[in-house]
Amino acid sequence: MPRKRSGWPSRFTHLKCSSCGRVFKPRPLNVCKCGKPLLAQYNLKGMRRDELLNRRDLWRYAPLLPVADEKNVISLGEGATPLIECRKLRRILKVGKVFVKDDGVNPTGTFKSRGMAVAVSKAKELGITRLAVPTTGSAGSAMAAYAQKAGAKAFVAFARGAPSIHVKMAKAFGAEVRQCRGFINEAAAVVQDFCAKNGYFNIATIKEPYRMEGKKTITMEIAEELGDLPDAILFPVGGGTGIVGAWKAWMELRKLGWAKKTPRLYCIQAEGCAPVFKAWGEGRADAEVWPDVRTRASGLAIPKPFADELILKAIRETDGGSVAVSDTEMRAAAKDIEKLEGISACLEGAATWAGAKLIAELGIVGPDDTVVLLNTGRRIPGT
Ligand SMILES: [Zn+2]
Repeated sequence: MPRKRSGWPSRFTHLKCSSCGRVFKPRPLNVCKCGKPLLAQYNLKGMRRDELLNRRDLWRYAPLLPVADEKNVISLGEGATPLIECRKLRRILKVGKVFVKDDGVNPTGTFKSRGMAVAVSKAKELGITRLAVPTTGSAGSAMAAYAQKAGAKAFVAFARGAPSIHVKMAKAFGAEVRQCRGFINEAAAVVQDFCAKNGYFNIATIKEPYRMEGKKTITMEIAEELGDLPDAILFPVGGGTGIVGAWKAWMELRKLGWAKKTPRLYCIQAEGCAPVFKAWGEGRADAEVWPDVRTRASGLAIPKPFADELILKAIRETDGGSVAVSDTEMRAAAKDIEKLEGISACLEGAATWAGAKLIAELGIVGPDDTVVLLNTGRRIPGT
């Protein structure tokens, strides 16, 4: 059994490299010595369901999260979002059931709050007081909010095309903000430089191991509510923490014996920036840099996700797939979801509905399947 402190039940033990398998004790770390992402490991032996906490937020899954002591938990009420059954969408798709997991109701309006809640909490536990992140928008406002709550300093570098609402929110939460002319790679370079000069810790997507742990809880909540994992889950994929978190949740739930089904994980990308879709189609293990990013869905404007190999592994190991949809299809999908089901979806979230229609047309999902669409955020007015 893991050592217990203050009755908080985390079963987190260590970090393990996703590529070379090297293990590390918990300490401020970004990636493995080999340069690949680190994955949090847990002692799941003998774990019972009643170890889950009786809370209405993602900290219900505290045993499966890396924060060791409750006093370090920084929470704004993230997680425990609704799983909404959508009968009108089901009739269009001609599948068994359709649900929208509505993560737009999270603090700061997007699913990024899950990852940041866990990453900022764990940073506090590790004694980190200065945090920096490059972002296409929503991760910046979320990080700023949690850093503010934690009493930590925040630096956010926004990529070109980041919605102004996220820039305003980050400023309002007290972050130091830089707006870059270039895409996410330029913002990433700005953050790297800033961290080196000012002693900040970089919590860029998958360049630290704990944001993924927060995102993992999306899939755990879905499994708990449905009694098992669904047949398919569709994720809009930019940096990939959502889909990689789902893959990790599936492995842990399977190990615990709490889920029997393998959810086919689908990676939905924008036609104007589809490096993973292209790599998957070509049977590659990694993605090439997308040369010419053209999409208004800022969350999908990632020319080469750092987690490309893990995203492709998640798709292949679950027998899922990938499709790319146009901005026009995303905008139409957002209107559909609003008008048919009363759910407000951002372009990225709506991309899952556009992708679901393509997948259904291809006959990949059928009348016996339960399909879950992840809505990653609320629609920003004017988009
Ligand atoms: Zn390694």
